[in-house]
Amino acid sequence: MFSDIPVDVSPMHEGERIRAANMYVELAGPKSVGTELVQVDESVVDGQYEVIGPELSEMIKGEVYPFGIKIDIKGEKLEKEIEGVIERRTHDLCNYVQGFMHLNQRDQIWCRVSTDALDEGFKLIDLAKSLGILFKEEFPIIEEITVTILTEEENVKQFVVDAQSIYAARDERARKLSDEDVDVFYGCLMCQSFAPTHMCVVTPDRTALCGAINWFDCRASAKMDPDGSIFEIEKGEVLDDVKGEYINVNDIIAQKTQGETDRVYLHSVFEYPHTSCGCFEAVAFYIPELDGIGIVDRDFGCETPLGIPFSSMAGQCSGGKQVEGFTGLSLEYMRSPKFLQADGAYERIVWMPKEIKSSLEGFIPKEIYDKIPTDENATSINDIKNYLKDKNHPILERIAILGSDEEKSSDDEDIESFGEEAMDMGQEFVPVASAPEMGMPLSGETKIIFKNAKIYAEKVIIKKSKK
Ligand code: SF4
Repeated sequence: MFSDIPVDVSPMHEGERIRAANMYVELAGPKSVGTELVQVDESVVDGQYEVIGPELSEMIKGEVYPFGIKIDIKGEKLEKEIEGVIERRTHDLCNYVQGFMHLNQRDQIWCRVSTDALDEGFKLIDLAKSLGILFKEEFPIIEEITVTILTEEENVKQFVVDAQSIYAARDERARKLSDEDVDVFYGCLMCQSFAPTHMCVVTPDRTALCGAINWFDCRASAKMDPDGSIFEIEKGEVLDDVKGEYINVNDIIAQKTQGETDRVYLHSVFEYPHTSCGCFEAVAFYIPELDGIGIVDRDFGCETPLGIPFSSMAGQCSGGKQVEGFTGLSLEYMRSPKFLQADGAYERIVWMPKEIKSSLEGFIPKEIYDKIPTDENATSINDIKNYLKDKNHPILERIAILGSDEEKSSDDEDIESFGEEAMDMGQEFVPVASAPEMGMPLSGETKIIFKNAKIYAEKVIIKKSKK
């Protein structure tokens, strides 16, 4: 089937990483532009594969190039609604091709070709042909397919603009529905190939954390293939409609994660946050010093106010882990009226990159918009504190942050304490700090190292020096 493709094509190559030392070229990603798009199109001519722009042989080793993957499909049973779900498989299927690495989705894609693949004679046209065969194999309802690879800068830029308007229309449609309007949610297990204990719960108000699959996409996919990786979850009895906890969701997530996770709050980062696979668009992270929540997306290349970049934070909470204080999410979820509603929604958000904040204008309540600092206003916890005080951010009502960084002494005056509220709500302790690694010396040369450490306290007292 792949006899004229010079490299092996098989699921065994999923997970292959192409590091800089073995990289021929990089395609799309943070240093360039690119996207992928699947569309149902009645004019498709089956088996038409094309590269528009420079082929690999015309590229320079070590350089970065624009990159688009345009896939058009036709089939009697194909509906427009299924486009997003089929498109999401581009990630896995590209990674079946030995020597080709694909990360992320939509206009966030980031790909690499290895020097070994180039030496074997691999070309981008081979990627197009492989995708054509793989998509038809994976989705028998695809009767005809064409795959076009774009590498010419102006073409790719225009393709990105066109694709973004299609993504926006898909997202806009889903925004008209809310969790209360439906009787079923959906589970997605597509990312279990690399995050075996992860299951996405997709509801009208909570678009999948990859940002590529919404409730309508899931509905179309489950209808087309009820035994596939996207399936219905009867909404059933709600345990807590603010946190977003449902008996059926808990039961199914326990079943599908071999018991690793058995409770999930869809709308909170505390206690039982939604698990995170690795392809989330952004991470919400708790900042104990401020009792607030920050957001960072994968395009933000600098350090967050916690002193670590997105990549380190993603490493802490990905792979299907449920890590209290962190949750992966889609940018579209930040437009939902239920966005982290159990935690205080935008009144609890104390930092985010400026690009994200601008893209959410109209969704962040007007009265809070100017009170949320971005990387332009604050790069450290202290900067954030000062900004919050200047702007009278409502988080100040939750906890008085004044003086929390001042030296404590016996003369210190208690200005705020918290913990009782959490205990009243049934929690024994409140989270006060977390760290990817924390060492504690024992006697002699022995040391205990805590990985992904979380510190809880029954009560937290913030003191202000009287001096
Ligand atoms: S992030 Fe979630 S919805 Fe998206 S493909 Fe992975 S499991 Fe499915």
